[in-house]
Parts: sequence; C-alpha cells; structure tokens
Amino acid sequence: MTALRTLRMTSPTHTVLEGGGFPVRRPTSMGSLMSPFLLLDEMGPVEWGPGEAIGAPAHPHRGFETVTYMLKGAMQHQDSAGNSGDLNPGDVQWMTAGRGIIHSELPQDDFLKAGGTTHGFQVWVNLPARHKMMPPRYQDIAAETIPKAQSEDGKVWANVIAGSTLGVEAVIDTVIPITYIHMKIKKGGAHRQNIDAGLNAMIYVFGGTVHLSGKPVRDGQLGLMNDGSEVLFEAKKEDAEFLLLAGPDINEPIARYGPFVMNTREEIQQALRDYQNGTLA
Ligand code: MN
Repeated sequence: MTALRTLRMTSPTHTVLEGGGFPVRRPTSMGSLMSPFLLLDEMGPVEWGPGEAIGAPAHPHRGFETVTYMLKGAMQHQDSAGNSGDLNPGDVQWMTAGRGIIHSELPQDDFLKAGGTTHGFQVWVNLPARHKMMPPRYQDIAAETIPKAQSEDGKVWANVIAGSTLGVEAVIDTVIPITYIHMKIKKGGAHRQNIDAGLNAMIYVFGGTVHLSGKPVRDGQLGLMNDGSEVLFEAKKEDAEFLLLAGPDINEPIARYGPFVMNTREEIQQALRDYQNGTLA
C-alpha cells in the first residue's frame, strides 16, 4: 500500500551574506518543519575576480553535522581533528562536529588567485541528544566515488549523496538515516521516489520548476512534503534541478547559539566555556 506524499507548503528563499560577505540563498521559514535539517544554504552562484573569493576562517561547531556539496569552484578545509582536503566540483564533505571541532572553510589557493564562480550547498544536519557529544568524524568524498543514477529513458539523473534512488545506494555513512540526492529531470521526464513513511521530506529547487505530486515548486523555493511512502516528481514545461532531503524528525528541544546546536541553554554555556578555555576541540 503506497500513499503519495503531497506538497505541504513552499517557502521562498532570501539572500543573506554569510562568513564575511559570502552571498547565500536560504529558505525564509524553516525551524522545526525542516527537522532534522537545521539550515539549507545555497552558496552563490557568485563570480569572484582574481584574489576576491572569500570563505569562513577558523570557527567552532558542536552538536550537529555540516555537509558541503560543491557544484562550481574550489574550497579547502582544515580542522582541529587533523583533517584537511580540497573540495572540487561534485565533491562532498560530510563533517560531523559531534563534541567539538574548529575548522576553516576557505577558497582553495589556486582558485583564489585565478577567480571564478563558486556554487554549492551547505546543509546542517542536527544530531539527536545521544549523539551530540560523539567524537568528531570527517568524510571527504570525491565526485567520482559518489554513485550516479539514471532512469531508463535518460530523463532523470541523480547524484546519490545519501540514501538511495533508482536502485543505487549512497556510500556515505550517516549517523541517522538521511536522504540527500541531487536530481535533474529533463522536460517531459518523471520520477517516482520511495521515501519511508514517517520521515520528514523536502525539496529545494535551484533550476526550473518541478511538480511535486502535481503541485509546482519553483527555482529558489523549498517545498515541504506531507507524509506518505512515495512522491512523484515531474518536469512538465522545462528542465528541473533540485535537492531531495529526508530524515527523521528529531523532536527534541533545540538550544542554538551561532555555531553550537544543543538541547539546553546549560549545554550552550558549557560549549562556550569549553571553546573559551580551549577544551572544545
Ligand atoms: Mn563551519
């Protein structure tokens, strides 16, 4: 017995400047409706001249995960757990801050010198209370090792970052079951996607318009779904490109202060103390 997920609501995005002046598109209303996701930023697209590109110098995190997916441009990562790596187009960095990490997310040296376009996503995934203080974990997945899927008619393409689609399973290990799929549907194409009932599910459209079980979700809109076990995506009048995100509603209190996301004020104060006295990471 399958129940079709319908469109619950759409949220527009607004453009804000992050980390020293980096323009991002961000849904305007999110909150608990997006659980377990805390934030969805489309970074750019932004064109940098030589020497202009900016990023985020060293800063701390505790209690959740940051997932960075590059489409264009190049970033370099370095953190207090000794991890470092470049993020090139198609690469994903799944960084679990857990009990604490201090990292920098900066333009890669050659990219900074030459300039160019940066486009990508950063999604914050919350951790349940029992995992918030887990040891930090870093998964750096190169574009060529992220499984791709395609429909038989060639009209549906997917980059399977987490979860599964079209019979293809992701390689990234997630703490809680997460679906994160970059999908492109050519005009006239359609795709039925299973999503376990009970999970929160949403799409973020960043090209064209996709019909979600019959209702349009347009470029720059977040479309939240009602419950059900599958959803129908159709690109009716133009090609469509979007992220599909799904995961369990964590349904715990959230205490959030800047780069720390915990359950109580006391835990936030502890994180600040730990950061100040150098024991966060
Ligand atoms: Mn960060």
